[in-house]
Amino acid sequence: MLSGKTALVTGSTSGIGLGIARALAEQGANIVFNGFGDAQQIEKLRIDVGDAYGVQTAYHNADMSKPDEIEAMMAFASAKFGGVDILINNAGIQHVANVEDFPAEKWDAIIAINLSSAFHTTRLALPGMRQKNWGRIINLASVHGLVGSAGKSAYVAAKHGLVGLTKVTALENAQTGITCNAICPGWVLTPLVQKQVDDRAAREGLSNDEARRALLLEKQPSGEFVTPDELGALAVFFCSPAGAQVRGVAWNMDGGWAAQ
Ligand code: NAD
Repeated sequence: MLSGKTALVTGSTSGIGLGIARALAEQGANIVFNGFGDAQQIEKLRIDVGDAYGVQTAYHNADMSKPDEIEAMMAFASAKFGGVDILINNAGIQHVANVEDFPAEKWDAIIAINLSSAFHTTRLALPGMRQKNWGRIINLASVHGLVGSAGKSAYVAAKHGLVGLTKVTALENAQTGITCNAICPGWVLTPLVQKQVDDRAAREGLSNDEARRALLLEKQPSGEFVTPDELGALAVFFCSPAGAQVRGVAWNMDGGWAAQ
């Protein structure tokens, strides 16, 4: 379905971004990977995904907190593939502390990586999408783009902001073939969440399994984690012809979290 298209997925060396990159490659899209990690492992990942799905792949190591590096990454994608047709703004970090204890530099980093980076990639991708009159912009927000949780001021502010940016981008392009939507996952068991499991296990003297269970049952009625594969399938739907009039939504996939 997506052969001949190019997808750039920020933060795709791990977790949800990697799941979405695989799902788009499975549909035939070329992939530009981005994110941190061991250089050899990233190179192996890039080659493996290309081989598995018969698509072209590339990698750029831009730090998503740095606008000049984001510009370099978007120029790299244009030079390599003639532009970005599908933009997945996924890179993100977390830090948990109450407002009065929240380190100011963590606040700045979370706003830069989880929110401002999506503004920069979007403003740079749109002119090319307009020329082709086709584009899909998918912002990985969170259920925390819809509701709050104590201890997550910067994250919740950034994700609510990302849902706002999604709506405005969708409206500004409503009469074009470019759509913009947000995906709002609940708990997904990735390194970002495992750290919160580890912190809870240490704080409350729980085993890893007990801490995972406690984390889930507190917020997610299903008692089950959402998976990167399920989120990849939703991203594929947004990119499909059936998704053409889905514009500006914040679609939660959260095991019932936000229904409470
Ligand atoms: P993860 O830690 O597994 O992956 C994060 C990715 O972002 C990695 O590839 C990492 O290298 C990259 N990254 C981090 N900082 C970066 C930077 N400065 N520049 C470039 N890349 C950077 O986390 P994840 O759980 O897969 O999270 C992906 C997205 O999904 C995030 O935006 C997160 O907020 C969101 N999300 C996660 C969950 C969850 O439960 N895991 C729930 C809702 C939303």
